Order: sequence, then C-alpha cells, then structure tokens
Amino acid sequence: MLKLQEELIDLKELPAETLDGKEIKLMANVDVSGEIDLVVTTGANGIGLYRTEQILDELGEFPTEDEQAEIYSKLASRIYPETLIIRTFDIGGINLNFSILLNLIHSLVCGIRLLLENLSLFKTQLRAILRASKNKNIQVMLPMISTIEEIWKSKEIITDCKKELKADKIHFDNHIKVGVMIEVPSAAVMSKEFSEEVDFISIGTNDLIQYLMAVDRGNDLVSNLYQEFNPVVIRTIQHIVKEAKKNHKSVSVCGEMAADTLAIPLLIGLGLDSLSISPSTILYAKRIIRSCDYKKAKELAEECLTLRTQEEIISKLEKFLQIIT
Ligand code: PEP
Ligand code: MG
Repeated sequence: MLKLQEELIDLKELPAETLDGKEIKLMANVDVSGEIDLVVTTGANGIGLYRTEQILDELGEFPTEDEQAEIYSKLASRIYPETLIIRTFDIGGINLNFSILLNLIHSLVCGIRLLLENLSLFKTQLRAILRASKNKNIQVMLPMISTIEEIWKSKEIITDCKKELKADKIHFDNHIKVGVMIEVPSAAVMSKEFSEEVDFISIGTNDLIQYLMAVDRGNDLVSNLYQEFNPVVIRTIQHIVKEAKKNHKSVSVCGEMAADTLAIPLLIGLGLDSLSISPSTILYAKRIIRSCDYKKAKELAEECLTLRTQEEIISKLEKFLQIIT
C-alpha cells in the first residue's frame, strides 16, 4: 500500500501518456472550494468541470455579479496557466432549494432550460465569467443542452454580454471558448450538428446513462439498469466522439465513469482527448493511462462495440486491466 502511494506521488510530474505516446488530458472536477488545493497538488491539467451551483449551496443565496467575478477570477489565477472550465449553473435536479426559489416544481427544469427561463440570472453569471476571463484561461460550458436552438440562444446571450462589457470598457477574453455538455440522448444524436456550433464537447455520463436507460439512479427498484457498461452507453459515446472529431472538436468525459479504472482504457480506445474526474482519483487514473497501449486500447474498444451485454463488456475490460496492471 505504501509502495503504491509512493508510486502515485512520483507520477505527479509525469504526463498522462500511454505507453505508445498518446497524451490524455487529465482534468479535475471541482464541487466544493476546499478541493482546489488537491487539484493543484495532484498536477491536474486544469479544471474540466467547475460545478458552480455549489457556490449557491455554500453561500445559501444567489451571488451577485461582483461576487461571482471575484470567485471565478481567484480560481482562474490559482490554476493559471491551466484551463478552468466553468459550467453555468445546473440548478434543478440537485439544487432543490434554489429550484423552489425560482418556482420550479419539476426536476427536469434544470441546466440550460432553467437559465434560458431566468435570463437575468444567466446574464449575471455570464458577465461575471467574462470579467474573470482576462487571462484567457477560462472556458464556458453549458449544461443539459437538448436542442440546437438552446445553443444558438445561449451564444446570442454571450454576444450580448460581450457587447455590454465592451461598452463599459471592461476587459475580457473576446475569444472565450464555449462548449456544451452532452448528457441527454437528443444531444448525443445531434452531436455532429452541436459540435459544429461549439468549441468543445464534454460528455456527462452521469445523466446520459440515466436518460439512455430510462432509470432514476435514486430508485432502488431499477438501479440494476443504471449500467455504465451497457452496449448502448459505449456505442453512444463512440457516436459522439466520431461526430465531434469530424468537426475537429475536442471531447472529454466528465461523469463518474471517467474515474472508473475499468472504463479508462475503453474511453482512451474510443478516442476521448480528456477525462475530468474527482481530484482524489487523478493519480490513480494517470497510473492506468501510463500502463496502457493506445493501439491495444483501440482494439479493446472495437471489440467492446461488438458485444451485446454489460456483463460481456465488463468481463473483457477486467481481462484487459489484469494484463496491464
Ligand atoms: C454528468 O451528468 O455526468 C455530470 C458531470 O453532471 P452532474 O453530475 O453535475 O449532473
Ligand atoms: Mg449532469
């Protein structure tokens, strides 16, 4: 155990690179401000998912534009020159208190749906993100996108915010990258069109699996159908990657699946450029990536794509992991 810990610490300075030289960006998911120190000490390649709704939990109210700009600026400076991907508020499903405040009674009024219905909230956050982007290491990520119109509308609002800031002579990154999360089946189907509209794609497997399999993770009666390795999940991820690559857009996975040691070789083989995971799992993931051969991972993914059950896929992945570790 001690040996493993020492080995992991030694990995900190090394790249997350396969044996045959394919580099994978290993980024951190940040849910609470206390995790930032760990992000820095594990040598993550930036923050791939900053869940801003945690600020609401920590403050107990909606922060003002100034308060948000300060929080985002501090975080961006702390991890500079690495990238900070700020996901706009994904309130609804988990943030029940704030859903009630906004008179929402259904958990599926969340993510971008909620922001487009509450424009002042959305604009306040976007202006704060832009104001914090002066050093050009911030990107914006939109949650729960399910139609292309939501992307168009969001981009229009970002353009409006930029115009307002310019008029007020406030500096920001005019070329700030905008990406979307793919976590709804409709978005997965439309990944070709969606990736034409944005700078990057991040797959939110936590929600995607749930909606692909029509299961509520919280419901024990159907939890056996929440299958991370169901062929449908693997084939959907492959489809998203293939379509986004046609448009030369980077694709990451920021759901829990990306930290699963069984899933990592498969995700590499499916062509993911980046994995965003909890900071405490970064070094473990790096260890797997560095023991993996990209060519073999691609063959593994090809084989998994021919299988019909989760059980068969898990068994294949277990054998692969046994060989490489
Ligand atoms: C996801 O759905 O995979 C995701 C990363 O978003 P969240 O877990 O915050 O819903
Ligand atoms: Mg989600």
